[in-house]
Amino acid sequence: MSKNKSSESVKVVVRCRPLNRREESHGPAGGIVQMDLRLGQVIIRNPRAPPSEPQKTFTFDAVYDANSKQRDLYDESVRPLIDSVLAGFNGTIFAYGQTGTGKTYTMQGAWMDPEKRGVIPNAFDHIFTHISRSQSDKQYLVRASYLEIYREEVRDLLDPNHGNARALELRENPDTGVYVQDLTSCVCKSIKEIEEVMNVGNQARAVGATDMNEHSSRSHALFLITVECSQPGPDGRKHIRVGRLNLVDLAGSERQAKTGVQGERLKEAAKINLSLSALGNVISALADGRSSHVPYRDSKLTRLLQDSLGGNAKTVMVATLGPAPQHYDETITTLRYANRAKNIQNQPKVNEDPKDALLREFQMEIARLRAQLNHRKWRSQQKKELVDGEGWERDGDEDTEGEEGEEVEKEAEEYVKQEEQRLEREKEAIRGDRSLLAEDKQRLLGEKERMMGDLRKEQEAAEQLTARYKAMESKLLVGGKNIIDHTNEQQKMLEMKRNEIAEQSSREREMQQQMLVQDDETLELRETFTSLQQEVEAKTKKLKKLYAKLQCIKAEIQDVNDEHVRSRQELEQTQNELTRELKFKYLIIENFIPPEEKNKIMNRLTFDPEEDQWKFQPLVPAESKSRQMKKRPTSAVGYKRPISQYARVAIAMGAHSRYRAENIMFLELDMTPPNTASLDRSAGADPNQSPSLDNSPTKDRVRKSRSWCQTPKSITSSSSNVSLAACHTATPAAAQ
Ligand code: ADP
Ligand code: MG
Repeated sequence: MSKNKSSESVKVVVRCRPLNRREESHGPAGGIVQMDLRLGQVIIRNPRAPPSEPQKTFTFDAVYDANSKQRDLYDESVRPLIDSVLAGFNGTIFAYGQTGTGKTYTMQGAWMDPEKRGVIPNAFDHIFTHISRSQSDKQYLVRASYLEIYREEVRDLLDPNHGNARALELRENPDTGVYVQDLTSCVCKSIKEIEEVMNVGNQARAVGATDMNEHSSRSHALFLITVECSQPGPDGRKHIRVGRLNLVDLAGSERQAKTGVQGERLKEAAKINLSLSALGNVISALADGRSSHVPYRDSKLTRLLQDSLGGNAKTVMVATLGPAPQHYDETITTLRYANRAKNIQNQPKVNEDPKDALLREFQMEIARLRAQLNHRKWRSQQKKELVDGEGWERDGDEDTEGEEGEEVEKEAEEYVKQEEQRLEREKEAIRGDRSLLAEDKQRLLGEKERMMGDLRKEQEAAEQLTARYKAMESKLLVGGKNIIDHTNEQQKMLEMKRNEIAEQSSREREMQQQMLVQDDETLELRETFTSLQQEVEAKTKKLKKLYAKLQCIKAEIQDVNDEHVRSRQELEQTQNELTRELKFKYLIIENFIPPEEKNKIMNRLTFDPEEDQWKFQPLVPAESKSRQMKKRPTSAVGYKRPISQYARVAIAMGAHSRYRAENIMFLELDMTPPNTASLDRSAGADPNQSPSLDNSPTKDRVRKSRSWCQTPKSITSSSSNVSLAACHTATPAAAQ
């Protein structure tokens, strides 16, 4: 992948959780993971290897050890990303690691304890505080969605009937990339509201799963926040920037045991980690930089994260580790995975004025409602003018925002009150007027009543309009206004200082890492030798150092090869099991399903690549169906099916019970010698040859044809004609 100016690599940080009580009780060995916070290095010891074997070292953008605070990780590694999202970039944070290493702790943490709040709640605070502190010419719209991917199905966690809801589909839009169709998206106006959204989703997740632990370790949870910001540009027009933030808590990365399961469970097992292995393949393909094909389409997760890996987003990966010696293999796999991800290059860019910005739609709708309200105001003023006879100038200032709604509402109320009073007065006057006839009085009073009714209706309509206007407007957050900022100046300063420190330390770490690399390279150049002896010593030292490095690399190669072999063996085993399953299914199909049925089914099946499934084409329409089907022959009255004359006779005669109701006929061959032979004989043929010609083959055939069943005793005569004739004579009534 070419590094161009605007490209930046995926930021990878590693976090190790403390030993838990169970692990501590395992033995005094302690953890196998050491961290150098200053250099951003993880040093890991293989508990099974001899002490002479060198330890493995990995370097990352930042590392967080067991004593690290949630706040440290957020301020140093996440805050810059959220700032970018607020500026209109797409951003992704995903937590990767074995189950129980602290992915959920890092992403969500403990809500109630401010010290233990994870990335997601801290991001909520950050976003809304930023909005409240921004200038008042900025308008914001914040939306949140929450989904999970379980067994390659995308489920909406904010859907009220999440349990029964069907799986959602992914779609692709050339402008905005891959998105989930029909996903619920909630407009959030405050931290409280967005926290509520998160809690609703978490509850749905817990309810949907029978075994929460297993479910949560096998499903991927994605919390999506979209922040749209509108601000007047130098050209005087409002410009919208849209930042999308994906907060991803991945499924546990440990190898799932696929062996020994069969049928449905096998299929399930094959799907469970499909997304994760596809993610691994995508990372490998991107990190390698040589492969032209990146298999994003292999799984739902990789499709959704397409922008975040090698796309236009800024990405932070948090790899979580456990320090226990018994998880060495998984830990080293996680570290290798994370190490590979460092090489992925993204090209982040700001989403400026996208076509589908919801904020634009909202602004247009608000403008429309305001115009309607203004129109009403103008109309009521005109009426007033007519009644009062006062002059009134139309207010040209249509753009006044803010209290406009309330003002208009107040004015409308006032107007309605005045009108009502006026109508009441007029009604009184009519009633008191003696010069009018009773009929006229009634008519005039009726008219006034109608006018009052109209007035009330109009008032209701105006109220509704105002309510809609207010509801729409309240969804948009205006900088420095909608949220009460509890933090005072001092706190602001404190935060700024903390950010500066975080920036400083990450810069320092970067420099340290660079220095380390340069040290190795320049060592040779700096050295000047005064004597031969000194040169030998220096070179021996260097040789030793390089030899140790070589050993490290050799061990690494061996490890990677071993792992490769292991995963290949596992894949082969899965493949064997799947083949066996396939053979079993084939056996059933070939032996127990009639070929014509099989062909019919096969002709109806089509493969849906979107859903990765075979699907039945719809059946033929109902009216043409009757034409295609053959009509069943009708049976004689009283019988279940058509029955031959012979069977009826057999029934009547009480023939072999086995063949009673079946249409089996015993047809004996006619043994009478053909007449032609005698004619031939009379014509002078050799009389000695005739008996063999006439009898032998026919007899053989007769014997053969009768050999498959025992002829019932009652039907023993040599010809069927004879037997039937006999039946007729014996039971003439039954034969009917
Ligand atoms: P995962 O989501 O990776 O399966 P969890 O986040 O559920 O793991 O963490 C497992 C346990 O470890 C939880 O009880 C959590 O409180 C604890 N834990 C994880 N990381 C830390 C940490 N950095 N500090 C303290 N406790 C932690
Ligand atoms: Mg978890």
